[in-house]
Amino acid sequence: MLKWSIATVSMGGTLEAKLAAAARAGFRAIEIFENDLTFFSGRPADVKAMAQNLGVEIIALQPMRDFEAMPEPQRSRNFERAKRKFDLMQELGTSMLCVCSSVAEEAIDDPARAAADLGALADLAAQRGMRIGYEALAWGRHVKDWMDAWKIVDLADRPNLGIVLDSFHICARKNPLEPIANLRPDRIALVQISDAPNVVMDVISMSRHHRCFPGQGDFPLVDYLDAVVHSGYRGHISLEVFNDQFRGAPATAVARDGMRSLLAAAEKLEAQRERKALPKLNLGSTLPPVAHIDGIEFIEFATSDKESSALLALLDGLGFRRVARHRSKDVDLFRQNDINIVVNREQEGFSHSFYLVHGTSVCALTLRFDNAKQALERANALAATTYFGRVGPGEAVIPAVGGVENSLIYFIDRLPKGRSNWDQDFIFESPPDATGALARIDHLSNVVRRSEFLSWILFYKSVLGFRDEPQVELADPYGAFFSRVIRSDDGAVRIPLNIAEGGSTGVSRFIDSSGGGGIQQIALSTSDLFGFVERARGKGVKFLDIPDNYYDDIEARYDLPPDTLARIRDLKILYDRSSTGEFFHIYTSMFEDRFFFEILERRNYDLFGAANTPIRLAAQTHEQDVALQQKAMFDF
Ligand code: MG
Repeated sequence: MLKWSIATVSMGGTLEAKLAAAARAGFRAIEIFENDLTFFSGRPADVKAMAQNLGVEIIALQPMRDFEAMPEPQRSRNFERAKRKFDLMQELGTSMLCVCSSVAEEAIDDPARAAADLGALADLAAQRGMRIGYEALAWGRHVKDWMDAWKIVDLADRPNLGIVLDSFHICARKNPLEPIANLRPDRIALVQISDAPNVVMDVISMSRHHRCFPGQGDFPLVDYLDAVVHSGYRGHISLEVFNDQFRGAPATAVARDGMRSLLAAAEKLEAQRERKALPKLNLGSTLPPVAHIDGIEFIEFATSDKESSALLALLDGLGFRRVARHRSKDVDLFRQNDINIVVNREQEGFSHSFYLVHGTSVCALTLRFDNAKQALERANALAATTYFGRVGPGEAVIPAVGGVENSLIYFIDRLPKGRSNWDQDFIFESPPDATGALARIDHLSNVVRRSEFLSWILFYKSVLGFRDEPQVELADPYGAFFSRVIRSDDGAVRIPLNIAEGGSTGVSRFIDSSGGGGIQQIALSTSDLFGFVERARGKGVKFLDIPDNYYDDIEARYDLPPDTLARIRDLKILYDRSSTGEFFHIYTSMFEDRFFFEILERRNYDLFGAANTPIRLAAQTHEQDVALQQKAMFDF
């Protein structure tokens, strides 16, 4: 059985906090990064005691740099340095020292010399009952690839000297993975794992700032693990991630994500082995399978008596009708075809707390599963925070997990035809259905803080079984805008996750005005956008003003029929085209700087109109700037 470990360098905070966070997340092994010891105020023996109390084994001390193939006098000095490290390790209670390939200019390009040095170091370690692991750094002076590190280890041929495999260096250098399967397992000292996005940049910057947990990047880590276990290796798999964002986040959250990423990676590995008809590994971490997501049952707005009138006017303008009232709470259900919007004006409980922090905003969304119980069990197995709300007598208990910025994601079952999830809690008017131009929720855009972006991607992928699409990077008038779409297996639920860089970007303003991230955009689909917009404008709905230049550009780029062009120009509708079809869409004016609706009509088009995002961001910025100027005038 494989054993999970995490390197202290992957987490932020003090060494005490890191050890506690790792233990709390379920890690029973840890690698100590020497800097963490240097900054620690106690003795190494105190760290040993702390780890023992937490039930965590210290499996290695890392790293020893610029050791092998160095000229004199560095060579002699290195052996003195190593002796002091062995003393430290003894006090720390660990038996393995990780040595990474020399990067120093003076390092000699001589594998035999490197093997002799590492062999002599291993002999010294053997006298103390210790072992040496040797790792190729992608930016090593002469040894950059695991195959070269292995040649040296093989040449030195000591029983207590092995190779350290690290997916980051191996995948960044695009080293072959399959030959790893042929290594002797007792000569693999340690296996480290981290992921990274497929971006073009120098490998040292990528290593220091963009390494991430398995599943958050694009490396072929399942193939990597497959080759590792094929070799017969059953030792520790250790997360080693250098990432500024991770170090800035609470260690408990990072350790939880680390464990979550390993469990999800192990599940993928088992699935791959099953496809290859290989025996089950019994990784000791079987997760309840992903439940199929059928769609979004409802979204819930937290609001107050005072603020709700503007929201209700907007919903009315968009064609929603109140179809039911809650039996015991100040909660209404608005409906249009398959779209359910719950408006919660309660003066206590979760929704009210959310309103106090974030203002009128979406506090919950509800996913409909083929098996909600199984979905919840999986969420629990992956350490998602669960929530069971206050309910009145006879009311349904809907379990939920924590979403972005302490919003909730409720889990409910898809019920057979004729049965409803609503009847227990709501009193319906007649008729309970509501028709209109808007058919269904197409997607919801979630703004997340940059420091939490990778964490939420991992959450949606591992806990809910979503898939992600490549990241899109666009211009905002005051900075940059990044978006990555995640979707449920068949695309029934699609959520672009958006982050921004720059103090005044639309996304940053949203984060400021909402007290954090959350659902900023609710996209609803229609099959008749032109007719819908005409009616909604007639009912007083305000849509985002699009500058005329945009339509000149559209006219130049696409040969749209003149009457279509005239109508979209007149109605302020945006247009995009793909290889398969056409896309028409429009945005409502921003509600209190917090959220807006997008109404869209897809004609054989499966994208999100990203080409129009810069114009949308510019128009929203303009709208906000004008509102601020008007406010400033009144303030005088
Ligand atoms: Mg490493």
